[in-house]
Amino acid sequence: MAEIRIIEDKCVGCKLCVPACPYDAIKVENKMAEILPNCVLCGLCVPACKFDAIDLTKDDADEKSDLDSYTGVWVFGEQKGGILAGVGLELLGEGRRLADELGEELSAVLIGENVGDAAKQMVAGGADNVYVVDHESLKLFNDESYADVFVQLIQKHKPEIVLMGASTYGRSLAPRISSRINTGLTADCTKLEIDPEKKILMQTRPAFGGNLMATIICPNHRPQMSTVRPKVMKPLEPDFSRTGNIVAEDVTIPQNLSVKVVDVVSELTETVNLTEADIIVSGGRGLGDPKNFELLHELAMLLGGAVGSSRAAVDAEWISYSHQVGQTGKTVGPKVYFACGISGAIQHLAGMSSSDTIIAINKNPDAPIFKIATFGIVGDVLQVVPELIKEFKARLG
Ligand SMILES: Cc1cc2nc3c(=O)[nH]c(=O)nc-3n(C[C@H](O)[C@H](O)[C@H](O)COP(=O)(O)OP(=O)(O)OC[C@H]3O[C@@H](n4cnc5c(N)ncnc54)[C@H](O)[C@@H]3O)c2cc1C
Ligand code: SF4
Ligand code: SF4
Repeated sequence: MAEIRIIEDKCVGCKLCVPACPYDAIKVENKMAEILPNCVLCGLCVPACKFDAIDLTKDDADEKSDLDSYTGVWVFGEQKGGILAGVGLELLGEGRRLADELGEELSAVLIGENVGDAAKQMVAGGADNVYVVDHESLKLFNDESYADVFVQLIQKHKPEIVLMGASTYGRSLAPRISSRINTGLTADCTKLEIDPEKKILMQTRPAFGGNLMATIICPNHRPQMSTVRPKVMKPLEPDFSRTGNIVAEDVTIPQNLSVKVVDVVSELTETVNLTEADIIVSGGRGLGDPKNFELLHELAMLLGGAVGSSRAAVDAEWISYSHQVGQTGKTVGPKVYFACGISGAIQHLAGMSSSDTIIAINKNPDAPIFKIATFGIVGDVLQVVPELIKEFKARLG
C-alpha cells in the first residue's frame, strides 16, 4: 500500500512543497506541512522539499498489479467541425497492428460536438470501440477542457497505450494529459513496436538533430503515451461493413476555464493543405530570390499540389513558416515531392523522405538530395522549372 507522510522533525514550514503540488493537496499551517485527502500520491512534492521532510513509499507489488490493470490501445480522433484529421486514421492503422499483437482492443476517443459521423468513420478505420464525448462547449478545441475530459476517460477505462497526432492539437494536449496522470510521453515517434518479451511499447524517434534514433520505453507508468507526426503511419483501407461499439460517455464537463476560445480563423492558402497534398513542389535557397517562388506556385497550381520550402528559405523570409518541411517544420508524405534548389540536409530529409517519388533539381551533382531522389535533374532550377511548366501545360492541355 502506498503511503505519504510529513516527517515532523524535519519540516521547517518553508512552503516550497505547496506550489509543487498540482492538486492543491498540501497546506502549511503553524510552520508545519499537512498532506490533504485529495493527494493522489504522484510524488511531485518529494524533490521540491529541500529538507527531506516528505516520505513517500510505494509498494512495488501494488504498482505492478496496478500496471497490469491497464489494457487496450487508444487513439485520439482529432477533428475540426466533425471532420476527422487524417492523422487519427493513420494512428488507427498503426494502433490496430499494436492491439492485435497484444491481443487487446483498439479504441478511439472523440471529443467535440456532433461527431457521430466521425465515430462511424473511426470504426471503419479499425476501432473496436469509440468513446464519444459530445457537448456544445467542446465544439472548438481547447487544450484545457479536452485534457480534462480525456483524463476522466483514462481514469475510468485505464488504457495501456494512448496515441495522438503530433499536430498542433496533439502537441498541446498530450503533455497536459501525461503530466496530469503522471506518466511518460514520447513526442514525434517515427516507429512503434511491441517488445515481444515484456509486451511494452518501444517508441522510436530521431534524436540529436536526426543523427541517431532513440528507442524510449515507459516501463513503470501507464498509459504509455506517444505522439506521431501526420503522414508517418499508413491508414487502413476504410471498411464500412466493420462493426464496433460507439459509446456515449458521461463525464463532468469542465467549467471556468482559464482560456476561452472565441473564434478560429483559418489561414487562407491558394493551394491545398501541405500535409494532405499528393504533390508538393518545394523550394530552397537555390531559388536565389523570393520572387522565384512564383514559379513553384505556378507548377503546384498546374498539378493541383501545394508549395513547400526548406528552412533556409523560411529563415530568409522568402515564404512563411507554415510551408516549412522538415524536422522543425511539417512532415509530409506525398506521392510526388519536387525538391527545387534544396541541398538535402538531414533536417529537411526528416520531413519528406517517406514521399513515394522524389524529383530533385539541383545544379550541384554532389548535392545530398540526389542520394534519396527517385529522379535527379542536374541543372539550374530557374531553367528547369519553366521547362517543366511548359511541358505539363502541353500534356495537361
Ligand atoms: C535543429 C535544426 C533544425 C532544422 N530544421 C529544418 C527543417 O525543418 N527543414 C529544413 O529544410 N531545414 C532545417 N534545418 C536547416 C538545415 O540544416 C539546412 O540548413 C537547410 O535545410 C538548408 O536549406 P536549403 O537546402 O534550401 O539551402 P542550402 O543548403 O544552402 O542548399 C541550397 C541548394 O541549392 C542548390 N542551388 C543553388 N543555386 C541553384 C540553382 N540556380 N539551381 C539549382 N540548384 C541550385 C545548391 O547546390 C544547394 O544544394 C534545421 C537545422 C537545425 C540545426
Ligand atoms: S517543503 Fe518540506 S520543509 Fe518545506 S513546508 Fe514542505 S514539507 Fe515542510
Ligand atoms: S504526492 Fe502529489 S498530490 Fe500528493 S501532496 Fe505530493 S504533489 Fe501533491
